[in-house]
Amino acid sequence: MIAVPSPRTPLVAMVGGGQLARMTHQAAIALGQSLRVLANAADEPAAQVSPDVVIGSHTDLEDLRRVAAGANVLTFDHEHVPPDLLDKLVAEGINVAPPPHALLHAQDKLVMRRRLEELGAPVPRYLGIESSEGIDELDIFAATVDVPIVVKAARGGYDGKGVRVADDAAQARDIARDYLASGISALIEERVVLRRELSALVARSPFGQGAAWPVVETVQRDGICVQVIAPAPDLPEETAAEAQRLALRLAGELGVVGVLAVELFETADGSLLVNELAMRPHNSGHWTMDGSLTSQFEQHLRAVLDYPLGHTDAVAPVTVMANVLGAAQEPAMTVDERMHHLFARMPDARVHLYGKTERPGRKVGHINFVGTDVADAQGLAELRERAELAAHWLSHAQWTDGWDPHAGDDAERSDEEERRR
Ligand code: ADP
Repeated sequence: MIAVPSPRTPLVAMVGGGQLARMTHQAAIALGQSLRVLANAADEPAAQVSPDVVIGSHTDLEDLRRVAAGANVLTFDHEHVPPDLLDKLVAEGINVAPPPHALLHAQDKLVMRRRLEELGAPVPRYLGIESSEGIDELDIFAATVDVPIVVKAARGGYDGKGVRVADDAAQARDIARDYLASGISALIEERVVLRRELSALVARSPFGQGAAWPVVETVQRDGICVQVIAPAPDLPEETAAEAQRLALRLAGELGVVGVLAVELFETADGSLLVNELAMRPHNSGHWTMDGSLTSQFEQHLRAVLDYPLGHTDAVAPVTVMANVLGAAQEPAMTVDERMHHLFARMPDARVHLYGKTERPGRKVGHINFVGTDVADAQGLAELRERAELAAHWLSHAQWTDGWDPHAGDDAERSDEEERRR
């Protein structure tokens, strides 16, 4: 169904019907708008909720034209639209945000790495391999870094897919050859000794206004972000400010329009390296839905529409976001019943579910806990523990701390029975 856009409100079209589009639609509603989405199928998260869905493929020029027709701006919930198609759309007068020349740095890790280096941003030591001849350089590079070595596909990876660890140069060569054989360049890099991973999230409008949220810590498990702590605990103020300045500078230099996530490594000695860039609302910004004055989804809309940006201050000393990842085996208990129990135990849990079917390891939702009363490390540890318990419960129907919701009821019932006797 294609709804007729109201001439009084702007129309933003988004390529991709995933959870990011779904939550952007949610923000659009508050602004009196409705997001138009290009989805592969009617059951995708955003297609379920937007009245204005184009079913089609992000690799089909005609489908892209259909979703962009009459829209003020075309933006993205993923990075997978081929750059040549975006160039065609721009040539036809479509306002694409971020523009293709900026987006390329989120589409191709090798292009991104080289540009970051040119711009003087700190990056891990790396080698780009674009052809089989380049493979010969691998041994020389490998001799300059410690094993293991990280080998990445320059394009197409996400959530750690397309990132492999090689024990030695020979294995790295084999992995790189595999990527090259499927037409993808390889990025070989040192394995950074990490203290932790951080994310600096900013937004930039075409007018040139920039806004930065507090820098967060992203906790990864098996290449997937499982928890975000906002702001990153114990991050020196100067380091946080440096990360925000760097992200705003990169947004400006690259000509980003919309939200930009700069994923960072904090090394063992406390310095920062840029791992990669994403130019769209990002998992590391889901906490902003409940923990910041302006959510990343509203900010993305404001930025692509060239509205003045919103305040990015946190509303509490700390907010913890936990991703809900599908269990290895879908629980027999319905999601409805799981929600009942979750809210009964944790009335402060801010649940965001994406309308996805549960599959092992799949991101099906997230839960935010706004730590209004958190004052110290102990309070933060408790909030993190609660977030972890809640997310695990929602996907597995198991309380990992052994909590039994009926234990109290039984005790009350036997008291009652005692009294009756
Ligand atoms: P994706 O695009 O799939 O998210 P990333 O390049 O962000 O891939 O890598 C996924 C994860 O792998 C990172 O979040 C980090 O935990 C780990 N990783 C990636 N590159 C390195 C590296 N050079 N050294 C150490 N860990 C790395």
